[in-house]
Amino acid sequence: MPWRVAGQDQALAYLRRSLAQGTFPHALLFVGPPHTGKTTLALHVAQALNCLDEDPPCGSCAACRRIAAGKHADVVTLSLEGARSEDTGAARKEIGIDRVRDLIHSAALPPFEGRFRVFLIDGAEDLSREAANALLKTLEEPGPHVVLLLTAVDEEAVLPTVRSRCQRLVVQTAPVDAIAHLLEAEEGLAPQQAAALARVSRGRTGWAVRAARDPEFAAEWQRQRAAVWDMVRQGTEGRLAWAARQAADFRRRRAEVLANLDVALDLWHDLLLLHAGCPPDLALATDDREVLAAAARRLTLAEIMGAVRALRAARAQLEQNANPRLALDVLLLDLPSVGVAQGVV
Ligand SMILES: [Zn+2]
Repeated sequence: MPWRVAGQDQALAYLRRSLAQGTFPHALLFVGPPHTGKTTLALHVAQALNCLDEDPPCGSCAACRRIAAGKHADVVTLSLEGARSEDTGAARKEIGIDRVRDLIHSAALPPFEGRFRVFLIDGAEDLSREAANALLKTLEEPGPHVVLLLTAVDEEAVLPTVRSRCQRLVVQTAPVDAIAHLLEAEEGLAPQQAAALARVSRGRTGWAVRAARDPEFAAEWQRQRAAVWDMVRQGTEGRLAWAARQAADFRRRRAEVLANLDVALDLWHDLLLLHAGCPPDLALATDDREVLAAAARRLTLAEIMGAVRALRAARAQLEQNANPRLALDVLLLDLPSVGVAQGVV
């Protein structure tokens, strides 16, 4: 059974080779953009290390199934997701030293049911400085039956002393075809649905799989797109009000604001495709093609290209911590008027 991952040829070649040769590193850091499937790949590694089949990770033996379900006693995940302070019940902002001390204690024990004790630190940039320092000795000499797997979107935010003790593995966005194939083969989606979600994912396997499994997650993307389209169709006043709302708490909602700009970029890419006369099914969305096609006919190529450039520039400026209100105001005044009287996404 092959690894159930889209693309990632280099990473897989490395993992296969080191598993087959018995040279698997005791600490691995998976780095790559959000939602590219780092966590899934790390869990496949945990399966490969503990699989009971001759061709690991088989995905179907008792060990593989228990790991996938989060029930294997030797595979432990540390992340911020759902973590709450025992004292106050508030959502935690970092992976603290108490949890790392538990990990160190647990790593000293022999495996309970498998061959390796695997610790996944999902979001290594969330480790507090104290926690990261406490982890160093274990990262260096974890013991013969222990493997530490770390993931990070922002590699620079991981303590250099942690990074230097890990083998680094890059996880990239995957080809759309490979994601569509994965959604059909592993998630049971119909070919057309798989192809549509794969396009929307823009190469992010983790996003595509989550959208396939969770209709609410996919619906949220549709809502974001509708809200952005609504803004694009408004006059100056409405656009500036939108910019003000986005900029108001940019610090706190940085990822959300950047995601909105990505959604807007997708929209303008669709307008570009439709303007160029590409078949409508090359555009991302399934239920707004007619409205977009009408808008695309009214716009000039220069206007559309200008919008795409303005969006890219604004996104780059926000990533470099420019004044968000200024960057967004300039962007929205640069976007051409779409001038569609009616129709919603
Ligand atoms: Zn297995």
